[in-house]
Amino acid sequence: MSRALAARPKVLMVSPMPEWDLAPMREAYDLVELPAGGPDDLPTTADITALVTSGGRGADAALIAALPDLRLIAVYGVGYDKVNLDAASRRNVAVTNTPDVLTADVADMALALALALARRIVDGDALVRSGTWPEQALPLTGSVSGRRVGIVGLGRIGEAIGRRFAGFDTEIGYWNRSPKPLSSWRAFPTPTSLAAWADILIVAVAGGDDTAGLVSAETIAALGRNGLLINISRGTTVDEEALIIALESEAIAGAGLDVFLNEPAIDERFFGLGNVVLSPHRGSATVATRRAMGAVVRANLAAHFAGEVLPTAVLQGR
Ligand code: NAP
Repeated sequence: MSRALAARPKVLMVSPMPEWDLAPMREAYDLVELPAGGPDDLPTTADITALVTSGGRGADAALIAALPDLRLIAVYGVGYDKVNLDAASRRNVAVTNTPDVLTADVADMALALALALARRIVDGDALVRSGTWPEQALPLTGSVSGRRVGIVGLGRIGEAIGRRFAGFDTEIGYWNRSPKPLSSWRAFPTPTSLAAWADILIVAVAGGDDTAGLVSAETIAALGRNGLLINISRGTTVDEEALIIALESEAIAGAGLDVFLNEPAIDERFFGLGNVVLSPHRGSATVATRRAMGAVVRANLAAHFAGEVLPTAVLQGR
């Protein structure tokens, strides 16, 4: 019995997962929590062949280097911008993520932020709760229906956002790195030309060094005084300093944000702004989606330890 237990694979838990995933994982693996002080505080790093991490935490080069037997990085999320793919690739470590299962909920969040921002739902809620409704009325707002919606990054989530907004009789345009010949929506050559056309600009592009500041000060300025910006991608994709300045000076009408730089300790200037709706990175945070994401992580672990093809590999190991 103890010999069988000792032979179980060791999986390093870099980020927490719900108990509904941990319980079945404990049946199959020895789960090792990453100490607050990092891998140096582990009794041993030997035999840790897989780790599970969140999209926000990822796995940097130092963590990968500290785990000599690592063969798999399983990301509990679709974004893998915080995983050092070069370091993983050099060591032939496989990387997996959880695509598709979260697409609908994240796209819903983009729509929810656009509606909440444009129709001042949060302000309305505060007014009703304050008991001052009999004395004061909110100003009239802009619409979402019938507006021009521009999507930066027409990947799985970007496409799903477009399908949802199509139901609001909007015109849809997009900018994407690679051509999308099957899309009937209007393609723009740059994020800035898209912003100049759009009333509502939605950022759904992948994060990482290559897309850092893709929505630049120039792009934000092109959106104009009536424009709304929604970001459900990563805090890095928008020039956040330029965004805050544009919001403070009302160079754009407002922003609905699910993602920020330095989450969760975000720039406190956001707190004083009246033209933002702020969401604490909740795009995939539903029971159904988190259950489905956990199942994908577990399927990748199971395939890895069985020597089978990884269901959702971003990077194949060897
Ligand atoms: P996806 O299908 O892989 O789409 C990625 C999009 O980013 C595509 O449009 C892709 O363009 C583009 N892209 C990737 N690398 C790029 C680069 N270097 N330069 C320019 N464009 C680049 O991913 P998805 O499932 O739609 O997810 C998109 C992102 O949403 C994730 O990466 C993640 O950051 C974010 N997300 C946020 C939440 C949340 O809770 N707020 C939840 C899940 C995901 P191509 O078509 O040319 O490849």
